[in-house]
Amino acid sequence: MTKPRAHHLSGMSTFSTPGGLYERAQKQFGLQDGKKLFCYSFFDRQRLDVQPFFADIYDEALSARAAPGHRAIAAIHRAGKLLRHYTLNIDGLAADVGMDTWHPDNNPDGVTVEMHGSIQQLVCPACDVVCGITDEHLILLRAKQALPCGACGQGVLRWRVMMYDDAESMLGWWVGESVCLSMHMCIRLLHEQIISYTKHAEYYKTPSAFKTHPPHTTSSTPPPQTQVKA
Ligand SMILES: [Zn+2]
Repeated sequence: MTKPRAHHLSGMSTFSTPGGLYERAQKQFGLQDGKKLFCYSFFDRQRLDVQPFFADIYDEALSARAAPGHRAIAAIHRAGKLLRHYTLNIDGLAADVGMDTWHPDNNPDGVTVEMHGSIQQLVCPACDVVCGITDEHLILLRAKQALPCGACGQGVLRWRVMMYDDAESMLGWWVGESVCLSMHMCIRLLHEQIISYTKHAEYYKTPSAFKTHPPHTTSSTPPPQTQVKA
């Protein structure tokens, strides 16, 4: 499991360290505690106002580079020794070193589970559709303009980053508007992984230059509720 502090060498800001995202939020929004900006109740009242703040984090992610920590985990993955990579990071940098992102429907064998979402995606709270971010999106987000969902025409797109207390729905894999993995389902996924490991223990114990991927770990999961656009 990786946390933001483990990846600070990539150039991404951390949350709670001096000069980090909480401190920046505190100054920009005049908050007593910058952590509040990442609480759903605050976010929900000021969705358009906070868009430029998240756009800055997005810019950081685009200019960040994989850190030694990323490369070390990728090396373990290439050696066929990594069961799964759970990350609290939202920068999407794991994909830059060849670790694809897990999704229960689109990529059940993906290695990286982005527990808190990705700053490189937007999501519709109404229909859960997920999409990448275009230059046009970015201009409108920075201008605090609402981005209507092109899929359902009902919702307004938001960053796919989990907030504290992010909305309430907990159906299937996803929790909240950010359609991030609920802790309950995260534990279930981990449990299935351990079962799979037990079944394939000999595979993992045997070093092989030819092994590039762990055995498939098909899970008996509920149907996903998210569509991912190309
Ligand atoms: Zn929608």
